Amino acid sequence: MMIDVLIVGAGASGLTMATDLARRGVRTRVVDAAEAGFPGSRAKGVQPRTLEVFDDLGVLPLLQPRSTLYPPLGVHLGPLRLRRTMIKLHKVTEDVPHPNTLLSPQYATDASLRQRLSELGGAVEYNTRLLSHEQDVDGVTATVEGAFGVDQIHARYLVGADGGGSVVRRGAKIPFEGTTDESDRMIVADVTLNGLSRDRWHIWPRNAGRFMGLCPLPDGKFQLMLKLRPDDPADLAPEAIERMVREFVGGTKIEVAEIHWSSLWRPNIRLAEHYRSARVFLIGDAAHVHPPAGGQGLNTGVQDAYNLGWKLGQVLAGAPKALLDTYEAERQPIAARVLGLSTEVYARMGDSPLAGSKRGDEERQLSLSYRGGPLALGEANSSMAPNAGDRAPDAPITDAAGRAKTLFDAFRGPHFTLVAIGSRAVSTAAEVAWPSQGAGLVRVHLVGQNDAFRRIYGVSGDGLILVRPDGYIAAATDGGDPASLIGRVGAMLPASAS
Ligand SMILES: Cc1cc2nc3c(=O)[nH]c(=O)nc-3n(C[C@H](O)[C@H](O)[C@H](O)COP(=O)(O)OP(=O)(O)OC[C@H]3O[C@@H](n4cnc5c(N)ncnc54)[C@H](O)[C@@H]3O)c2cc1C
Repeated sequence: MMIDVLIVGAGASGLTMATDLARRGVRTRVVDAAEAGFPGSRAKGVQPRTLEVFDDLGVLPLLQPRSTLYPPLGVHLGPLRLRRTMIKLHKVTEDVPHPNTLLSPQYATDASLRQRLSELGGAVEYNTRLLSHEQDVDGVTATVEGAFGVDQIHARYLVGADGGGSVVRRGAKIPFEGTTDESDRMIVADVTLNGLSRDRWHIWPRNAGRFMGLCPLPDGKFQLMLKLRPDDPADLAPEAIERMVREFVGGTKIEVAEIHWSSLWRPNIRLAEHYRSARVFLIGDAAHVHPPAGGQGLNTGVQDAYNLGWKLGQVLAGAPKALLDTYEAERQPIAARVLGLSTEVYARMGDSPLAGSKRGDEERQLSLSYRGGPLALGEANSSMAPNAGDRAPDAPITDAAGRAKTLFDAFRGPHFTLVAIGSRAVSTAAEVAWPSQGAGLVRVHLVGQNDAFRRIYGVSGDGLILVRPDGYIAAATDGGDPASLIGRVGAMLPASAS
């Protein structure tokens, strides 16, 4: 049987993709070579923009009980302990309801996504390893191996979410440009410790080429990050890890009671030359690998999935296939920027149509923008701010039924949202003909002052704002006529749109 999408890899990227496709009713399978979900804490910072994505997908209520805010740093300098703030706390505002990075071990983030996928009727097929794939004009044939032996899965599209060593990427012969520094190694482990306070992320700064951090995790463990000297043996035996921890903390009474998971990490900075080969796509670490500083790797992968999910859903429903080209065009420059690759390396991969996303506060990923990209070309003239390609911020609103809610309440779900304010815009919005196939349209007619909305969106008179399913602005106008609005977003819609 031909399915629509085969996702290879059930880390955060693959699970986000599976969750989004499940709510779109796309026939999907998710396979993973591992026996079960990844047990380590690894990426532990979930950024504000990812929290918005998780809010939309229904994952946030499941993640919140498993996570905390980041504690301050406690820097150990001999007998001194200095308190430092690494992650500044932000206040909730009308446009940013989830302003702070959450500390969530990767196993907790993945578990929240799996739980949501299960609520939507999906499940991961573990112990199922992709060996190879082939594609033709109609679809992809993937050869997988598991307890059942070797089998083939036929799918219209294949999404490689299979991490940095991606078999999908290799099979598609997509180069992975960048560097791996073999001399720079770090032990990352989850440990139970006795004798260390849990109100700080403890840091022991450089010590003869080594460095150690112990970050309290929400479930009572600590995440150990221990940078090795080039001449240190890479010994992951519990006794060796305990010995190095004791060497750092000196004569204190800290005791390593249990090591739950450990790994050796090397900084890899790589970017796939392409994110797509016809019917095959790369998302997450399969497309870009990061150093851990800044907590961007997992977050960038989640947002890759969120960008591609609705586009696959739309093309499967009959939208122009060129919509799928916009995935690489929108997401690859973001990863290049996040990776901090030099412009020369990136220039070798071809010129980007994007003017680039805004700088400043980038780690929270709220200011990332697709402005100037292929889905927002020629849209920059509106006087409104934000504009086409930008993240659609939240705002408190009063809708036509007099209900007070937020824009994010209206965005939640797999649909496009058309927000209209002012009588001309409201009547234009009511006339917009929307295709019956693919993602639906939710119309939000604002009545009354809605001052906060006007301020946040820069709308003084009439305003019509069409928001994509992934929460970016598709088009922003001051009213206009319905056909012109649909004309501007025709590339995102199945053909039956008028
Ligand atoms: C030791 C370590 C520490 C890290 N620390 C940080 C950090 O502090 N901050 C940060 O932001 N990022 C960190 N990262 C990176 C972060 O973990 C990744 O960015 C994130 O896991 C990427 O998610 P993903 O879903 O794309 O891939 P992964 O989480 O790697 O998931 C890939 C999945 O694909 C499966 N798979 C692989 N090959 C196949 C196959 N052939 N067939 C079927 N399934 C397959 C794997 O079993 C796995 O479940 C760290 C990574 C490592 C290795």
